[in-house]
Amino acid sequence: MYSQVIAGTYFTSKDDQTVQVGENTLICIDEQGQIVRIISDREPEFHSVRQTAADQNNLLQLAANERLLPGFVDLHIHAPQWAQAGLALDRSLNDWLNTYTFPLEAKFADDQFALTVYSSLVQTLLANGTTTALMFGTIYNSSNLILAQQAAKFGLRALIGKVAMDDPTQTPEYYRDESATEALKATREFIESMLKLQQQTRTTLMPVITPRFIPSCTNELLQGLGELAKQYDLPIQSHCSESDWEDQYVQERFGQRDAEVFDHFGLLTDQAVMAHGTQLTDGDLSLFRQRQAAVAHCPISNVYFGNAVFPTRKALQAGNQIGLGSDISGGFSPSLYRNMQQAVMSSQLLTDGVNNEMDSTKRGVPDSRISMKTAFYLATKGGAQALNLPVGAIEVGKQADFQVVKLTPALTAESIDDEFERLLYQAERNSISWVMVGGEMVYQNQEGHR
Ligand SMILES: [Zn+2]
Repeated sequence: MYSQVIAGTYFTSKDDQTVQVGENTLICIDEQGQIVRIISDREPEFHSVRQTAADQNNLLQLAANERLLPGFVDLHIHAPQWAQAGLALDRSLNDWLNTYTFPLEAKFADDQFALTVYSSLVQTLLANGTTTALMFGTIYNSSNLILAQQAAKFGLRALIGKVAMDDPTQTPEYYRDESATEALKATREFIESMLKLQQQTRTTLMPVITPRFIPSCTNELLQGLGELAKQYDLPIQSHCSESDWEDQYVQERFGQRDAEVFDHFGLLTDQAVMAHGTQLTDGDLSLFRQRQAAVAHCPISNVYFGNAVFPTRKALQAGNQIGLGSDISGGFSPSLYRNMQQAVMSSQLLTDGVNNEMDSTKRGVPDSRISMKTAFYLATKGGAQALNLPVGAIEVGKQADFQVVKLTPALTAESIDDEFERLLYQAERNSISWVMVGGEMVYQNQEGHR
């Protein structure tokens, strides 16, 4: 009666402070890839459901050293930049964009190049436990659709934007939309193509309104993108108050803050996900809460380009919606494990401060530390809520998006809480045994020892 039953111990985020453990449970999945029942070994049906699934060859039994986790939601990826992940991170944001990033993205006019990079990226994300990805493509629709096709082929849930950027003062001639009108026309065409593609696949494929960031867009383009977001009722992604330079540029151009400008153009909605936000003020965060817009916290990338540490704990306590982003390739790692670790580490630096010439009482921002449980929340439930998708948790009614991770041998754990903490600090790509999206097996680790 269930199409699949997974037997084992799982961890899932309850809220930003709490992780729920299900020891020795059955996760029952229906034909639509949805979790329809979770049965603990104390319930009377446990043995009969398990036996029926085994008889029907529908039982997936985890090994004693394996744990089930929700697949991760990565809220910020520049798909074309996968080709340069780890390059030139010693440059300023402006220099990094103009010298490295724009020339690379311009290469995606070549479909063959796009296919090679996007096929690799999609498989890499799945192998690292990421099952939902919010991504920037390039200005070229042909390669953006190749990205969508690769996501559908390998089973990644993908929300993809045609990058819109038309301001000649802030973008190079070889890589920009010809005009606001052309950018809007191309965005509309991309939306229509994606909506058609979505009907042909089981997994999520969704178009996203994507102004690159305010500096690269004219007012006319921002206005038109806001109207398209409303007309099609679509998610929006961009960058907001992401560095000193970017934050100040917007204030000089508009005499308003980044968040206010997005809001003015109808781009700060409950479907908006804004990356970085390291320079967001309390007023900006309040506007985000009023609009229920989310922040994609990108802890690795922010070390290089953010000029400050995003105050995750303060913003969560105030009620802001936050998820986690790898920001390939402002961040070098496609792994959200690596990003969760950095989120905790950066929050510790924010608490302590870093300049030893200052008195220790004035060096940092007290009470800014987050726990690994909070970081796990950001990578799963927080991201899912930002995208309004029924994923990111092992709960009845959610999609069966899972990863199975092996515990590191020879490490002791006094309690299941300790085990969880160690698992998230020690897990690497090779610790992941298999990954499932919507009940479909999308990745199996060939090198792993099972
Ligand atoms: Zn970015």
